[in-house]
Amino acid sequence: LSQKVEMTNWEKGHYINYKKMSENLAIVRSRLNRPLTFAEKILYSHLDDPHGQDIERGKSYLKLRPDRVACQDATAQMAILQFMSANMPSVATPTTVHCDHLIEAQVGGEKDLARAQDINKEVYDFLSSSCAKYNIGFWRPGSGIIHQIVLENYAFPGGLMIGTDSHTPNAGGLGMCAIGVGGADAVDVMANLPWEVKAPKIIGVRLTGEMSGWTAPKDIILKVAGILTVKGGTGAIIEYHGPGVNALSATGMGTICNMGAEIGATTSVFPFNDRMYDYLAATKRKAIGDFARNYAAELKEDKGAQYDELIELNLSELEPHINGPFTPDLATPISKFKDAVATNKWPEELKVGLIGSCTNSSYEDMSRAASIARDALNHGIKAKSMFTVTPGSEQIRATIERDGQLETLEEFGGMVLANACGPCIGQWDRRDVKKGEANSILSSYNRNFTGRNDANPATHSFVTSPDLVVALTLAGTLNFNPLTDTLKDKDGKDFKLSPPTGEGLPSRGYDPGRDTYQAPPEDRASISVAVSPTSDRLQILNGFEAWDGKDAMDVPILIKTKGKTTTDHISMAGPWLKYRGHLDNISNNMLIGAINAANGEANKVKNMVTGEVDAVPATARDYKKRGIKWVVIGDWNYGEGSSREHAALEPRHLGALAIITRSFARIHETNLKKQGLMPLTFADPADYDKINPDDKVDVMCTELAVGKPLTLRVHPKDGKTWEAKLNHTFNESQLSWFKDGSALNTMARHAEA
Ligand code: SF4
Repeated sequence: LSQKVEMTNWEKGHYINYKKMSENLAIVRSRLNRPLTFAEKILYSHLDDPHGQDIERGKSYLKLRPDRVACQDATAQMAILQFMSANMPSVATPTTVHCDHLIEAQVGGEKDLARAQDINKEVYDFLSSSCAKYNIGFWRPGSGIIHQIVLENYAFPGGLMIGTDSHTPNAGGLGMCAIGVGGADAVDVMANLPWEVKAPKIIGVRLTGEMSGWTAPKDIILKVAGILTVKGGTGAIIEYHGPGVNALSATGMGTICNMGAEIGATTSVFPFNDRMYDYLAATKRKAIGDFARNYAAELKEDKGAQYDELIELNLSELEPHINGPFTPDLATPISKFKDAVATNKWPEELKVGLIGSCTNSSYEDMSRAASIARDALNHGIKAKSMFTVTPGSEQIRATIERDGQLETLEEFGGMVLANACGPCIGQWDRRDVKKGEANSILSSYNRNFTGRNDANPATHSFVTSPDLVVALTLAGTLNFNPLTDTLKDKDGKDFKLSPPTGEGLPSRGYDPGRDTYQAPPEDRASISVAVSPTSDRLQILNGFEAWDGKDAMDVPILIKTKGKTTTDHISMAGPWLKYRGHLDNISNNMLIGAINAANGEANKVKNMVTGEVDAVPATARDYKKRGIKWVVIGDWNYGEGSSREHAALEPRHLGALAIITRSFARIHETNLKKQGLMPLTFADPADYDKINPDDKVDVMCTELAVGKPLTLRVHPKDGKTWEAKLNHTFNESQLSWFKDGSALNTMARHAEA
């Protein structure tokens, strides 16, 4: 176990440390004295303090040391900008950045890629130069989708990774605990801080039997999504186990883990097995496979491991499923799908079939899809619907080009898109239907929320296996079940499609294709990171000012929000995504979705200095210009939704001092602290009702101390001053974040000291 095996072929000097992991586990075992699940073993073997850490599933907060960080290009911008403001010479944890989200599908791979390189030039240049400077591996546009590249190059059994994308769990197909986080968490780990997560509950899925015919690995997660629903996995890791696991390919397991994000799961994971070994060997990582075999006893669940919930699935009885429209948990087996289409009046005609994406673009997926297309072509027929193919990586594209699947899929009628996210994230210049026109599309992707693919709320988007996408695309209708129905060949004769077949791994090995990786250079000191001062998409972050050491008197309330205030209300997505790397520009969306308790409207507040009614960001900017700090008053669970750090950065940038609510969503609360703001809660929740939007307040910042409430003095416009007690959850080290102005300021101070 003291062998030295590199984590990846792309870096030098970062070894897989199974020995340390075993030692940590031994410590935890002696304390817990019970059998552990595999997911628990991965997490607990990465504890920052295995001796002292409280461990209770669903309760304690674990401080962990991940092995790696991966960022996609949309989220990497702000993560790196923040990291830069800490003034550290390089990242402390191996990190990669992947250019996949900003490429729009329009006319096909080559041209779409060239257009994206042009439109996003300054973002790509920034990412490329900053990655080179801070020792981050950079995967250029065209290299492929983050999760596919991670599976092919970086994932390893027993590893712990965080990624700034919700489908990071894809790496569970190689037995890695891979968890999607916000940029702020990634920055912490890049800067050598431990990463904190609530100890997940563990949901076990025990697989028995073996799949056959038209059933594919995707159907396992489509079925599980139907059982658990979009909320069922919240706060839990889904851990697959049982004898059925061994018949699945590693990439198939990746598909299942990937889509666990749709049921809210923290991540999903499979135990190390021979299929993972085969995949590691095929992707030039046999040494990792051999090393993992030595450590195999720790790369699966202990006998008698206890799950918080257990689901049993017999794969021999599992039917192919189609999930949707509009939600990934509306699961319908293919035998009942025709009836469901009629009952629900879903548009019968299938307009577009789309295969690929990070979810389903393995060699096996493409080979099976091509086998169905070949069967059709042999009968003289082609796709009736529009048909697109998105290879998950340049390696997959090059390999299926060499081996003929790509040609078959093109002959069948497929348009091959860039190795990128494309229509999966709405990067799709779709022209075959008008906005508002009801229509159906079917993809092998993972998400199908309203408007996600083409921004048309009337598009009925369904998700299924690539096999069913190809079969239904051939028929051109949702009313086709390839297991029972026949099609007409070119002579009008009936025939039935043969069930798909295809190799799991390429017998001639993978073809790496074009070189799309940029390794950080040896000499990085001389590299300068270019950001144009006139850019509207990127802006260098200047560290926030430190606290002035005083109480804040006579502070206006920018807005008292009513009801739900989610991170989407605080920092909207959609068109604003473009400005994710430019804090000042994106701040123009600050709180524009929140409902003002004073008038029941969004984005309309009264400026307490001028008396004018204006937009929320404009009013905040006016206060900032006048040197006036402000606060927000919020209701229950303020900041629920996502881990988006912009929801904390924007108020900080526009001059907030504190956000005072009945309660916070925990991730947002931490994000506020990290940016040097004070998240405070009313000790008496009824005080929320007592406070009026046009009151002024004194915040007694000097009282801030661990475990002690601080005083809020409220000056009603025409009434008697009263006091409220405010609680907070700052611990000692977090207090310095507030005092220094942000967590990064604190880190920078320590780095200098
Ligand atoms: Fe996310 Fe879709 Fe891209 Fe996958 S292909 S990373 S789900 S946008």
